[in-house]
Amino acid sequence: MTHLPFIIAGQPVDSKDTFEVVNPATGQPFATAPVATPEDLDRAVAAARTAFKSWSFLPVQTRREAILAIGNKIAANGELLANLITREQGKPLGGFARLGSRFEVDVAAKWCEATAQMEMPPDVLMDGEQGRIELHRKPIGVVGSITPWNWPLMIAIWHIIPAIYAGNAVVIKPSSLTPLATLKLVELANEVLPAGVLNIVSGEGGLGRAMASHAGIDKIVFTGSTQTGKSIMAGAAETLKRLTLELGGNDAGIVLPGANISEIAPQIFGGAFINNGQTCAALKRLYVHDSQYDDMCGALASIAKSVTVGDGLDDGTDFGPVQNASQLAFVANLAQQAQRDGGQFLTGGTSPLQDNGYFFAPTIVAGLCDGHALVDEEPFGPILPVIRYSDEQDVLARSNENPNGLGGSVWSADIEHAKVIAAQMECGTVWINGHGGLNPFAPFGGVKQSGFGVEFGVEGLKECTLPQTIHLPAST
Ligand code: NAD
Repeated sequence: MTHLPFIIAGQPVDSKDTFEVVNPATGQPFATAPVATPEDLDRAVAAARTAFKSWSFLPVQTRREAILAIGNKIAANGELLANLITREQGKPLGGFARLGSRFEVDVAAKWCEATAQMEMPPDVLMDGEQGRIELHRKPIGVVGSITPWNWPLMIAIWHIIPAIYAGNAVVIKPSSLTPLATLKLVELANEVLPAGVLNIVSGEGGLGRAMASHAGIDKIVFTGSTQTGKSIMAGAAETLKRLTLELGGNDAGIVLPGANISEIAPQIFGGAFINNGQTCAALKRLYVHDSQYDDMCGALASIAKSVTVGDGLDDGTDFGPVQNASQLAFVANLAQQAQRDGGQFLTGGTSPLQDNGYFFAPTIVAGLCDGHALVDEEPFGPILPVIRYSDEQDVLARSNENPNGLGGSVWSADIEHAKVIAAQMECGTVWINGHGGLNPFAPFGGVKQSGFGVEFGVEGLKECTLPQTIHLPAST
């Protein structure tokens, strides 16, 4: 069995207790990872606090070179990392639209390069006879990163790289369902970073909670479910930790009348089923105008019927399994409820394979509306409800009538009109004639129960810092 230790103060650490990592394509354990004790967490935080003292005072150029070197390490170990991701997470190496684990590794490496181009010079707020005021950005201290199981490597990079570039030290805890690629990443990064700048602990249950309330951690950046985000916020209250919370989404896509269905259907399918729908900003509710509803349903169903589902290690697999058994049960339960609610299954609804893997075929469900569980709740799996509407203001109200507000999309041949609709959507990002594309220079974050704060771009980098205002006398 594969086994990877965690890393504290630049050193590999093992513990006598381990937990198993299951390959979702087989339902069988194939690796183990060590369980960190509360003392291990304390040691990781202490190592980060010590490293912070010198790391935060290094010239930006030194930290820039370090994150560029981490990107190079990722690229040089691309196949190894992609293989770990496919075996622990399930997504294919290549996959549908080539958005599988090789893509994840490639983007992770490129994200380091892009972040290294960003600058945060002091802002001059005033400079005149009454004096000069500058706004500087200082690193926060120790950042605790808690990541989910859907894009384990990429989300780890989104947390780690801006934090250390801005001068912080980090303790990361990956999901216990997908710890391996992150353990390997931290091992590789420690080949170029000073000891203690980046530490990792792994374990099941309780470790994330302990981080949220830990007195030695100054900020938590968390990506995961809204429910866990609330628990972290409560745990962080006592120490007044800074928080960036990237939480759940139930993104609506609105197809306006007159859209070119054959052109947009493949993009809509890709935006909904990327990573088997297990993506925070996947399209999860598709609203289509009456006049084109049947055409859109037909186009999406025909794509869904053409894809292959199987083990992600096999060439030619478009979609792998759902990542874990309880997520599969959740998706299957939503599907059964949709059936009871009168949903019409145009494709899928069941496992296409008879083995122990957590497979579920890409599923398109017509005939449901708001108020049905499959529409109201985030499925986080390969199932998409297509909902009929006839009035533009009504569909906007329905799309906004959801506690989440991560992303949304408008699909139209009339871009100016799409922009008017986009401006009225209650979400952090809106795509026009696309869904889910991210860019390292474009801030990304949720509103409402999808969280607060942003990642990416200079705005995201600033969230890894605290402002300090400096008042200077007028120069004579
Ligand atoms: P999760 O909330 O169950 O777990 C995420 C992480 O939190 C894991 O590392 C887990 O061990 C840890 N954790 C669990 N309970 C904790 C607690 N009480 N205190 C501290 N840490 C705790 O989420 P998941 O099931 O891994 O991921 C799926 C969810 O993540 C979906 O809702 C999805 O929309 C969301 N997500 C959001 C974004 C975004 O950018 N907004 C991106 C990816 C995923």
